[in-house]
Amino acid sequence: MTSTIQLVNPADEQALQEVVLTSASDADRAIERAAAASASWRRVAPADRARLLRRFAAAVDADVEHLASLEVRNSGHPVGAARWEAGHVRDVLEYYAAAPERLFGRQIPVAGGVDITFSEPLGVVGVIAPWNFPMPIAVWGFAPALAAGNCVLLKPAEMTPLTALRLGELAREAGLPDDVFQVLPGKGSVVGQRFVDHPLVRKVTFTGSTAVGKQVMAGCAQQVKRVTLELGGKSANIVFADADLEKAAASAPGGVFDNAGQDCCARSRILVQRSVFDRFLELMEPAVTGLRVGDPADPVTEMGPLISASHRDKVASYVPDDARVAYRGSAPSGPGFWFPPTVLTPDAGDPVLREEVFGPVVAVVPFDDEDDAVRIANDSEYGLSGSIWTRDVGRAFRVSRGVEAGNLSVNSHSSVRYATPFGGFKQSGLGRELGPDALAAFTDTKNVFLSTEES
Ligand code: NAP
Ligand code: MG
Repeated sequence: MTSTIQLVNPADEQALQEVVLTSASDADRAIERAAAASASWRRVAPADRARLLRRFAAAVDADVEHLASLEVRNSGHPVGAARWEAGHVRDVLEYYAAAPERLFGRQIPVAGGVDITFSEPLGVVGVIAPWNFPMPIAVWGFAPALAAGNCVLLKPAEMTPLTALRLGELAREAGLPDDVFQVLPGKGSVVGQRFVDHPLVRKVTFTGSTAVGKQVMAGCAQQVKRVTLELGGKSANIVFADADLEKAAASAPGGVFDNAGQDCCARSRILVQRSVFDRFLELMEPAVTGLRVGDPADPVTEMGPLISASHRDKVASYVPDDARVAYRGSAPSGPGFWFPPTVLTPDAGDPVLREEVFGPVVAVVPFDDEDDAVRIANDSEYGLSGSIWTRDVGRAFRVSRGVEAGNLSVNSHSSVRYATPFGGFKQSGLGRELGPDALAAFTDTKNVFLSTEES
């Protein structure tokens, strides 16, 4: 019996379309086809593999508007953001299209011969993506994996498969051989679990919750399967009294409310030096109340809805009736999973300071000095990203080195650039994606010694 999922537009709760879910046995067949295809894909000449990835990038570029419109309807992303995400897929493919011809090994001096290393593809790679950024997170896995000569199976989140399915079509149109890149919409507990359990899948890259990530890691351990994990976050935005306060306050809402806070890098804790705490809150208020929350298809919209009714319930549980709300922005009433941007000034010990809300809720807390700021920032099992606002360059570097997180930005809220490594400290993840070294996560090093002794 085939099972399907009815997709819903989160902005108006209208039915979008039904998608057939991949069964465990169909997932197994796809894995076996990928393993068969991998024998020839790994032997495609580097320049030809590069050309195919550039063609894939060009096909995505020609389809940006269409991909963006799918993400607007399926995920409720504001159209401006959705266009950026589709363009990012193109950019990441172009970046890694340069990799097949630069997948260098090393020549290591040894006695009696020549020693060289090769970066061998792993075979079949399974990419498990979450619903919050369906396009970017998928391409961070499949672009470097394909460039390194692996075949890829992509499992999008059950609720948000439309752009992934379209990317699968574009790959075929661009001429990628059959079965080299397959998209398998379906349940994590079914398809994702087959990636973990099937011995022909040699590597899993997982992005999602820390709880499921731990299960994936434990499952992969049974076969010593390679695994990359990108998990949750509770990132700190640290604002010192010497910062450009106007700029820090104007940009802080964007650092947490982007994608309605459904962002693993969301700066969901704002730490403000005590002497400027009240002033900062005052300065930030118009940037929160003025945030344009509404129809994601409208190009002026800055924030859309949450992904689902149940997720909205979870987010709302962090703002009980007696919550210390400093102020809130607006949100449409009527259908759609709306939640207004909300600024809290909680007491120490409030769960909102420790748990990932994954919604438009930010906690603002005071700190006394540099050491105090670093201590509070590190008081978390997570360590994904963070920001530091100061005009003191030495302090910017001291605090950057002190904060236990993988991605920090000074006087900005940047986390993701395709050319730089991305990933978490502590329980925010394992391994790095993007940047010049991503191929190392999709290859194994083979050492070959060739004797030059006379026979
Ligand atoms: P999730 O429930 O962990 O799901 C993530 C993906 O894993 C989905 O495709 C899901 O499929 C699949 N999955 C579920 N159970 C599985 C299993 N037993 N085996 C294999 N795969 C399984 O997370 P989410 O609710 O979609 O996403 C929100 C979380 O992701 C947040 O905690 C956020 O911080 C994190 N996140 C982290 C990053 C990062 O880069 N660090 C980026 C984005 C999001 P279904 O859709 O069928 O459940
Ligand atoms: Mg889930």
